[in-house]
Parts: sequence; C-alpha cells; structure tokens
Amino acid sequence: MRKMIAIGFLLVLLPLSAWAQGKEAKTVKISESVYVYDAGMYLSMFVVTKDGVIAIEPVNSKHSKGLLAAIRSVTDQPIRYLLISHNHWDHANGGKIFRDAGATIVAHVEAYEWMKANPHPDLALPDESWSGNRKNILLGGTTLELHYMGMNHGLGMTVFRLPKEKIVYVADLVAPKRVFFATVPDFNIKEWRRALKAIEALDFETAVYSHNASGKPTGTKADVTETLAYMDDLQAAIFAEFKKGTPFTEVPTAVKLPKYKDWAMYDQWLHLNAWRLMLDSHMGAFPWRPDHAYEGNE
Ligand SMILES: [Zn+2]
Repeated sequence: MRKMIAIGFLLVLLPLSAWAQGKEAKTVKISESVYVYDAGMYLSMFVVTKDGVIAIEPVNSKHSKGLLAAIRSVTDQPIRYLLISHNHWDHANGGKIFRDAGATIVAHVEAYEWMKANPHPDLALPDESWSGNRKNILLGGTTLELHYMGMNHGLGMTVFRLPKEKIVYVADLVAPKRVFFATVPDFNIKEWRRALKAIEALDFETAVYSHNASGKPTGTKADVTETLAYMDDLQAAIFAEFKKGTPFTEVPTAVKLPKYKDWAMYDQWLHLNAWRLMLDSHMGAFPWRPDHAYEGNE
C-alpha cells in the first residue's frame, strides 16, 4: 500500500515538474516597491514599504526560507505581514518561518476554519482571520486590498490588489499558458467563471500568478481572458463530442484543442480537464456550499 502511494506521488510529481524544470529560484523587481519570488512551480510576491514588508504566499517551509532570503536580499525592514490566499496546504504551509521572523499571519476566516480542522505538520495556523468580502492593509503609506472572491477554488480565496501600482496577486484561478491543474481539484466551475469575470473587472495592469508557465514572472489581464476562453473552448469541445454521439467514457480522450497544444501539460492533463468539466455538466456544480448557516442543526 505504502509503495503504491509512493508511486502515485511520483507519477503526479514528474509531469508537474516538466514546465518548471531546471528553473532556479529568482527574485524580480516589478515596481518601485514590489517584487516577485519565482521558485518555478510557485511564485510569491512581496511589498517593501518604509514601515515594513508584506509577503504573500508561504507555500511551504522550503519556499518560505527562499522567500525570506529574497526579502532580506533587498531590505532590512521588519516583516509585518504574511498573507495567505486560500486554505490549501500547498499554498498555506510554511508560515512558521515568517512568524519566527516577526510577521503576523493573516487569512480569510473560511481558510482559517479549514486549516484549524485540517492540520498539517508544516502548517502554522494564522494569527488573524478576517471575514466579509473586503479588507485593506495599510502599511508605510502603501494600501493593499484584500478581495474575498467567494466560492471558486478552495476556501477563503483572496485576490490581492495594490491600487496605486495596479498590481494583483492571483493564486490558482489563473495559470498562464498552462491547461487547468490535473483533475481540476476543488474548483466549482460555474463560480470559478464568475470569479474570473470579477477579476477581469478589477483595475490592474500587472498580475503575479502563483503558477505561471509563460516563462515570465508576471502576466496581464489577457491571461484571465485566456483562461475563460480555454474553459469555453473545452466545454464546447465536450458538447461537440456529445452531439457526434461519442460514448460518454470516450469523450475526454476524444476531445482535442489544437489551439492550446503549446500550453504546458496539454498532453498530460487535457483529458483530465475534460473529465472534470464533463462530470460538472453531468452531475451539476460541485463542490458547493451555502453561504449562510443553517438553523436548528445543533
Ligand atoms: Zn489551491
């Protein structure tokens, strides 16, 4: 059993590394005060103000150590905040590195509650949680907006925006030049589409995406639009197979989208993406949850 798990783990990891293979972690300055820490598979962002540093996305302890070293390579300012985009371990782990460096760890309450219920040896529970749809962090003359995006992927999904710099940080919802992540886990497709349109409506010029297969450390709003187009094209291709009478179980492998053949993981994941979208139109939207508490359940 253990061996099977180990093999499964390798199978998932090997193709994943294909688009980030051989990439050395690097720190890129994208505005007067904003930097991207690009570790290949995962990208974090940090903002240096005159009263301290705000870091976004710890990922895990190894990544956090690299991110902390990247911050220290450009400033001696104290690290005030570590912000986490959503609940998933592969984004939220590693926070202890920043807490030990003096940062307050912040996440949306939905993410916080999940983390409390789903501990991991590398997960530090946030020091502060926030609720509602919006919060601002003001530090050293810089305003950072936190936008809770509702249901879409995981819990507590927050998009960060620097209004003056017109820069956003977006985790998982957009991954430029890459097909959707494997089996598209923990995404509600309908709500994801709504959230993408909400991101499109935000005022920004530069985007830092937690995953980016474009070879560049940043992207633009066009990447959001492309993500929506890929979703539409994949859905249309699935329906075209239904129309042709292709048997249900053969639809995912029959679907081809040559327009996207150069996107990372196209060969490995297109059919998995197709399975997920097909099941969504077969079963109805999932995962789903009400946004209110039920009464009388206690
Ligand atoms: Zn995630």
